[in-house]
Amino acid sequence: MPHTIPATLIPGDGIGPEIIAAAVEVLAALGAPFAWDTQVAGMEGVRTAGDSLPPKTIESIKKTRLALKGPLETPSGGGFRSSNVRLREEFKLYANLRPARTLIPGGRFDNIDLVVVRENLEGLYIGHEHYIQIDDDPHAVAMASGVNTRQGSRRLLQFAFEYAVANGRQKVTIVHKANIMKALTGIFLETGLELYERNYQGRFVLETVIIDACAMKLVLNPWQFDMLVTTNLFGDILSDLVAGLVGGLGMTPGANIGANAAIFEAVHGSAPDIAGKGVANPTALMLAAAMMLDHCHLPHMATRLRNAINHALNTDKVRTGDLGGRASTAEFTRALIARIAGSA
Ligand code: NAD
Repeated sequence: MPHTIPATLIPGDGIGPEIIAAAVEVLAALGAPFAWDTQVAGMEGVRTAGDSLPPKTIESIKKTRLALKGPLETPSGGGFRSSNVRLREEFKLYANLRPARTLIPGGRFDNIDLVVVRENLEGLYIGHEHYIQIDDDPHAVAMASGVNTRQGSRRLLQFAFEYAVANGRQKVTIVHKANIMKALTGIFLETGLELYERNYQGRFVLETVIIDACAMKLVLNPWQFDMLVTTNLFGDILSDLVAGLVGGLGMTPGANIGANAAIFEAVHGSAPDIAGKGVANPTALMLAAAMMLDHCHLPHMATRLRNAINHALNTDKVRTGDLGGRASTAEFTRALIARIAGSA
């Protein structure tokens, strides 16, 4: 039996507490040795601790260097700054790894197996913005600055290229908009091409594509891609598009990885429209938990979890509403636990 692994648990907002409870139950059924330290963030942090990222939460992750996180709500247009972005900055989680695989065959797109690697700390996403007042209109002009650095681009591209080599990926595509944002996304493209030429040539194929064409190609023929690596905002958008190819946001996990910590989560948000109804699909978070098990060198448990998800969805046909089924979160969780017990 492996030793105990301390890990921070952030239930989060909306459907977060429901799907996190489901994931914790399933991880316990697997015998995963996590010792959870439960902390708050997001809207729940504001409500209970007066801060969307309270110091106690930061302290916990500093100690554990590992977290499983539910979605955190961020108000649009105004209000507090995203606690997801603050977490990424606090722990320098520069790589966002988002694999997407078809789990239920027979959908609009079959046999999808795509990995999106998104730069997580730079670009237009950093939220350095302001308004300029003209006459009596305080919002007459809106301005935003994007920042991409050579060093930031290189460490992310290196992460992606190393992942490609370690996981036997055949092709990596750099997605950019260097025809228009020549400096901001040109630096990312240029750094990627240089890095490939210097250290990775012959180990996989490298291609480049402009973001708008990439979006179209992903819908027309997603199988032409293997791994996509891109800047922060493009990665944010494309990873949701890719989630749509494999059945929606309920199916795609994400890992935020840095030098000093790793935080695992679903790609989706807090889904306020279905929160509290017990109908959320916990699959994406379960798959994030499987990535967390891999990260902690527990690949046999990760495989058992992925197999249980596959059987619950496809053999037992226990599916939540977003997948066209009628199962509740609790029923799906019970189906997973039964499959895990059967695979012991
Ligand atoms: P969302 O992902 O919460 O929901 C989009 C749609 O997908 C909704 O119809 C929702 O019901 C559905 N959906 C999402 N997850 C589902 C699941 N597990 N099972 C079934 N259906 C699911 O996106 P949104 O509505 O744009 O954002 C809501 C809030 O979440 C916002 O405050 C946003 O900032 C936040 N958000 C947080 C994260 C994060 O914490 N990583 C990511 C994205 C959005």
